Amino acid sequence: MSPFSFFSCNQSALKSALQLGITHTVGSLSHKPERDVLLQDFEVVETISFPTRGSNMTPAHDYGDFKFKTYAPTAFRYFRDLFGIRPDDYMYSLCNEPLIELPNSGASGSLFYRTSDDDYIIKTVQHKEAEFLQKLLPGYYMNLHQNKCTLLPKFYGLYSVQAAGKKIRIVVMNNLLPSAVRMHLKFDLKGSTYNGRQASAKERGKDFPTYKDLDFLQDMPDGLLLGENKYNAVCKTIQRDCLVLQSFSIMDYSLLVGIHNVDQAYMDQQSAVAMQGMDQRRPQSQRSLYRTAMEAIQADTASVGSQDTEDKTGGIPARNSKGERLLVYIGIIDILQSYRFEKQLLHLWKSLIHNGETVSIHRPDFYAERFRKFMCNTVFRKILHIKTSRSRKHK
Ligand code: ATP
Ligand code: CA
Ligand code: CA
Repeated sequence: MSPFSFFSCNQSALKSALQLGITHTVGSLSHKPERDVLLQDFEVVETISFPTRGSNMTPAHDYGDFKFKTYAPTAFRYFRDLFGIRPDDYMYSLCNEPLIELPNSGASGSLFYRTSDDDYIIKTVQHKEAEFLQKLLPGYYMNLHQNKCTLLPKFYGLYSVQAAGKKIRIVVMNNLLPSAVRMHLKFDLKGSTYNGRQASAKERGKDFPTYKDLDFLQDMPDGLLLGENKYNAVCKTIQRDCLVLQSFSIMDYSLLVGIHNVDQAYMDQQSAVAMQGMDQRRPQSQRSLYRTAMEAIQADTASVGSQDTEDKTGGIPARNSKGERLLVYIGIIDILQSYRFEKQLLHLWKSLIHNGETVSIHRPDFYAERFRKFMCNTVFRKILHIKTSRSRKHK
């Protein structure tokens, strides 16, 4: 049974409770002086009760009595600061505009929301995942300090809402796919060719399906072609990230790949107009969060606004085998499953019924190596000469 059944008939109550809770916790944190993060900060959990009638600290509301917990508030404040997010912007994005529910192509039953301004994704996570994220925080902190160039998720907050004996845990993270940019193709890739790695008929029937590894092999057999520098940067980043994931025994993560076909969008006049319109409406201050894919792969962002990415959405310029211009949006997602935590039994069971080579649940080192190889040999390919497009037709 879904752990989210309590709110499932009233998701708007969940969203509203979340928004009340986040407003309160970010607000109260702003009164505490900034200081260095201490080891014990990673373990702090702050609880606040929101009775329906209100209290001297909380407003009255009609979502039913609930408790709101903020995990490691000071540590996450530090992370948000490191990612350049101002407290009032964070609070405004999450709490002042409606949260938009996203369809989840995954099997876990997690709920996904996107903020109206497109900057954040909220995901409900299981107890084990939330517990694991808490354990991961010191290592995550260390990694961010050593390596700003990463495709790993940016975690901005971990919270829970508790009501009528049920508890829903949520993480706030970066949105990888700007909704103003039409994704002509979207893939969730693991490097596994186990026969489940193909979008279901139901998924294919959707307006914007998420395809998988086997679909990629079939539809893009020549992969995504990158200029030499971009290729090297992507692969170096993936390699470093895989090493980190492996060191935490993390498995089952995916590379989310959104592909915008610039030439196809140009042909499709309507979508080009829609995209321009969206872009102009966006407030200037929010744009920086979009530039993540390019920023993630190269520390030197001086070239981000170069002719290839003048649309400022941060996609990585690439080509398909037809020579069409693409912008590719990537990030590693779903990293809160640790082999050490829960996979042993499942692996044993799966390896009994499947050929061990192709099952996507495996040892973390095997998983990381297969992932890296698939991304760097099959998905991304190096082209030495890429035709530059100085005279972009749609400009
Ligand atoms: P499962 O465990 O069954 O694989 P899940 O519920 O844990 O699924 P994820 O794998 O994290 O879900 O994500 C499911 C889908 O949600 C992804 O394929 C992607 O389309 C979308 N998604 C997830 N994270 C992001 C993100 N940060 N930005 C944009 N889209 C995202
Ligand atoms: Ca997944
Ligand atoms: Ca998952």
